[in-house]
Amino acid sequence: MPNTMLAVVKYGQEDGQVELREVPVPEIGPDDVLLEVAAAGVCGSDIEFWRHSITFPIRTPVIQGHEFGGVVAEAGERVTDWRVGDEVVSETAAFICGKCRLCRTGHYNLCRERLGFGYGLDGAFAKYVRVRQGLLHRKPPEVSWNAAALTEPTCVAYNALVVQSEARPGEPVAILGPGAIGLLCLQVAKALGASPVLITGTTVDARRLDLARRLGADHVVNAQEVDPVEVALDLTGGEGIPLVIDAAGNSATIRQSLDMVARNGQITKIGWGKEPVGFSLDPIVAKAVRYQGTFSHTWPMWEAVLEMVRAGRLDPEALVTHELQLREWLTSYELVEARQAVKVVLRPE
Ligand SMILES: [Zn+2]
Ligand SMILES: [Zn+2]
Repeated sequence: MPNTMLAVVKYGQEDGQVELREVPVPEIGPDDVLLEVAAAGVCGSDIEFWRHSITFPIRTPVIQGHEFGGVVAEAGERVTDWRVGDEVVSETAAFICGKCRLCRTGHYNLCRERLGFGYGLDGAFAKYVRVRQGLLHRKPPEVSWNAAALTEPTCVAYNALVVQSEARPGEPVAILGPGAIGLLCLQVAKALGASPVLITGTTVDARRLDLARRLGADHVVNAQEVDPVEVALDLTGGEGIPLVIDAAGNSATIRQSLDMVARNGQITKIGWGKEPVGFSLDPIVAKAVRYQGTFSHTWPMWEAVLEMVRAGRLDPEALVTHELQLREWLTSYELVEARQAVKVVLRPE
């Protein structure tokens, strides 16, 4: 085992303060494993951390990266279920308190003390990452490393559609925003048999909207060319869409979601939007709509998603447009920022 490794480190609280550094290999505690990272996905939030356009505190210096799978390279003395050589994926709640009401009721994704990999504790854009044993899930052999690295965002989509909403076979779903999360929501909605599935984006999303078509979206709408609300109402004889997934989250899509949702329907918001909305939210009242937020995921969702990927019902790897070496991290961030990449997977070296 080497003493040092290459890592993508956010070292300051300003735009652009990220660089490749030689850092010590992490030391593990008795309940941890040391994972040799096989593949790590670049997330939109990694770009926001790089740009420092974030609304919550971030520890620096910190190694970025929270979507990953790898091989157990070392196991702490109290680790009983995992051995060196095991192929695993890891959840992202690097630290939780384990004692609060939310932790004790299975909602540890919402623990107030939660620290995620890549901003609260050192993440996976490195050769090795320290992971507590309770975060691990076995990677089925049929699941590729690229797909394994994308288990995390796929669980975000699964939570949104299956746990926080009830997407139903044969009922329409609209997905606003064709980023990685929106496209994974599309896959989950299709896998559940929702129909038709509509997805929207803008001109800058052209590449992502093409991919949405290939992934089986029934209706793909460029909102700068066609009004997505009109499309949604036409599709449903004026009734509106029973389940709208807002995977963009800005004021434009909030407004569209309110206008296209059916009476007694649900809007589930995954995307973050920093700006104030500036219009009335009364359609929630008038149409008796459930407005549901969703954040992150928990253990059973990981098991379900890994099984769906293993069985070929979900194909997160279809989102991977670029595979790059860790030292090409800056290129990968620029590709994601320019929306030329859908998903980049980094390979540590
Ligand atoms: Zn992410
Ligand atoms: Zn807690």
